Amino acid sequence: MSNFIDEVKSRRTFGIISHPDAGKTTLTEKLLFFGGAIRSAGTVKGKKTGKFAKSDWMEIEKQRGISVTSSVMQFDYDGFRVNILDTPGHEDFSEDTYRTLTAVDSAVMVIDSGKGIEPQTIKLFKVCRMRGIPIFTFINKLDRVGKAPLELIAELEEVLGIEAYPMNWPIGMGKEFLGIYDRYYNRIEQFRVEEDDRFIPLNEDGEIDGDHPIKQSSLYDQVLEEVELLNEAGNEFSRERIAEGTLTPVFFGSALTTFGVQTFLETYLKFAPEPQPRHSDQGYIDPLNEQFTGFVFKIQANMNPAHRDRIAFVRVCSGKFERGMNVILSRTGKQMKLSQSTQFLAESRETVNEAVSGDIIGLYDTGTYQIGDTIVGGKPIIHYDPLPQFTPELFVRVRAKNVMKQKQFHKGINQLVQEGAIQLYKTKFEEYIIGAVGQLQFEVFEHRMKNEYNSDVVMEHLGSKIVRWVEGDKVDENLNTQRSMLVKDRFDKNVFLFENDFALRWFQDKHPDVKLYNPMDEY
Ligand code: GDP
Repeated sequence: MSNFIDEVKSRRTFGIISHPDAGKTTLTEKLLFFGGAIRSAGTVKGKKTGKFAKSDWMEIEKQRGISVTSSVMQFDYDGFRVNILDTPGHEDFSEDTYRTLTAVDSAVMVIDSGKGIEPQTIKLFKVCRMRGIPIFTFINKLDRVGKAPLELIAELEEVLGIEAYPMNWPIGMGKEFLGIYDRYYNRIEQFRVEEDDRFIPLNEDGEIDGDHPIKQSSLYDQVLEEVELLNEAGNEFSRERIAEGTLTPVFFGSALTTFGVQTFLETYLKFAPEPQPRHSDQGYIDPLNEQFTGFVFKIQANMNPAHRDRIAFVRVCSGKFERGMNVILSRTGKQMKLSQSTQFLAESRETVNEAVSGDIIGLYDTGTYQIGDTIVGGKPIIHYDPLPQFTPELFVRVRAKNVMKQKQFHKGINQLVQEGAIQLYKTKFEEYIIGAVGQLQFEVFEHRMKNEYNSDVVMEHLGSKIVRWVEGDKVDENLNTQRSMLVKDRFDKNVFLFENDFALRWFQDKHPDVKLYNPMDEY
């Protein structure tokens, strides 16, 4: 069994979070390149490279040329097995993106040095924070002129409220980018210098011994000054604080020119956590437990339109998965044989025979699984904690186009809500309002209602709203106005949909007795 323990301990499972265009795809490709690649679910992003584009993606995906849901990539490096879970940005941002972050042990945050912290980074960061997972920061595009490094570090601390520890520091930027001063390895890594020649070792004082052309540059002196400032006034390095997610190690580099990526990967693997215990109704489950357990964090529909199948993505939390094994779905107690499991290669799906804690497997699903489901390889039956509820931001009023087809409409909507595809609310007139974190969720909803439930829907976009739940069961119905719509969620809880921030604040001033909360603020 020691083999099993070594296997589990070699796993590093993470997601990359960033705002669109910060360089996530480029960084992912470079990481895969160093890993000699590649198992990849679908695409890294077919849209831009074309290289990994698949032909049998869901129709909507083809039409738009995007990858609808997160994919899973795997590679080996230096004795580690790395699983990267893609968290899509752009228009394909959805609750899936958030949920994927419940299946990782750490996150890599990519920031564009020219733009600093952007809105989507903040949202995704919050979800990581909620889970207390370690965050590693890669500040990208140093080959271009961007914000001053000290300013970027200050932004991390001020905008995100996380303390930063720069592992290295850029020497210039843009055309004058000479490389990075590596505090962690006590060396300079030169930009555009080949292979091993690129490293200049530093002495005990953190300076270059003897002559070196780089010493002629005023940038060298400036960096020594800045590094001294960091040493004296900056945060201390702390492995523990990285592990609890309160300190982020920061790396500078340029993904496009493959600079700083390998150094980042190697250091990241040193400090990134191995698979972590996960909480269930039986307490924390150790990933080294021999009993196979896992949970469904995502369901992807119609990956292959010819079969109309779905794939349930399962994060293995303990034990070993073997193809053909019998498992129990904890929610129903039903036993099933997992013969059709799948992992993915760049061009075709590959069947996975074995997986251990930390790995992700895809299971063919014909409607058996729901988001958050636990599966166990025999008794005792456990239930992992439910996935957190994410606060939707976009809303649509929806009804069946054909009033004679109410049955299909209700069946479809209930199923999709249970699956976690969208969130459902009702007005007091029994109108249906659905909420999502990304526009794409509505398109997928419409598509699936039509294709899977034969129900054409009419959707009236209500735009973005600020949603707040009401504490307690009672609320005065007269508070329902245009600007503060009162609805009920699917558990019959009272919820207000505010037109904007101003409407929310106005309401709070006027009705201090009504206690509002946002489930995502509870962490
Ligand atoms: P994503 O949207 O975060 O996945 O970003 P991409 O990886 O697709 O990159 C967005 C754009 O930035 C592309 O045009 C990339 O070529 C470019 N880019 C990515 N990394 C770098 C970098 O290190 N330097 C420069 N100059 N451009 C970069």
